[in-house]
Amino acid sequence: MCTMYQPELKNCPICADKLIKKYNTAKKTVNTLKGKMECGERVFKCRNGNCKGSLMSFHSAEFKALTLEDMTFGIDVVALEGELRFEEHKTIDEIVNILKVQGVNTNGATVSKHLDKYLALVSGYQEQKLKDIQQAIVKQGGYVLQIDGTVSTKTKTLYIFRDNISGTTLYAALANHDDTNSVKPLFQDIKNKFGVPLAIMSDMQNAFIESAADVFTGVPHQFCQYHFLKNVGNAILKEKHQQLGTLIRDKEVKNKIERVQNQVETKKK
Ligand SMILES: [Zn+2]
Repeated sequence: MCTMYQPELKNCPICADKLIKKYNTAKKTVNTLKGKMECGERVFKCRNGNCKGSLMSFHSAEFKALTLEDMTFGIDVVALEGELRFEEHKTIDEIVNILKVQGVNTNGATVSKHLDKYLALVSGYQEQKLKDIQQAIVKQGGYVLQIDGTVSTKTKTLYIFRDNISGTTLYAALANHDDTNSVKPLFQDIKNKFGVPLAIMSDMQNAFIESAADVFTGVPHQFCQYHFLKNVGNAILKEKHQQLGTLIRDKEVKNKIERVQNQVETKKK
């Protein structure tokens, strides 16, 4: 079955007119930790011929968030590979085997290529490309900031900031925390380097909502559900969740919680 993604934006961020179909992309197969996904995308443009948006391409943020540019492996696979290599110090061969157990068939050369991409990604701005990206944004007439639903690995959270129109990765960062204090400086950095976006797209995390309101006051903020990425965390963290579940049962935390709940209920009455 092929999933056709469509832009979350329904109206032009410049003139507010309706967005209409521009073209469909070719279907592609993406290898993820949840199996192979067949998918494609319907790309939109502004229907108002006098608006610069009629020359732009508006994409599905969720589709863009599946992979990095020009890749057939899911971002979840790359995040796991990076975690295994750089946090757990596994060898390439060990990583190939771990992925095989998870149902992803790959080889050493592909894993190495992904690790290079991962390193380039988490090293922050692509300094050598920065000028090109800035010029492209000006020529394009602005950018739509897309913050990919966070890819959570066991210890860290990977944030990827992209321009939804061109698909270019603007910035990525690994953070230990996902609160506003950690996220807001990233927004500030984006503003300093690329200016104020036409619109912002992200999921409904508090840190994103507060940072966007502070740094990009008044810019329309569209919320999207990144179903796929939500599940990435689950795929990688499932074991931890289960351990936590067992821990809670063992320690009789549940009973204590229920006691507190009962006290609160009683006080309310
Ligand atoms: Zn328009």
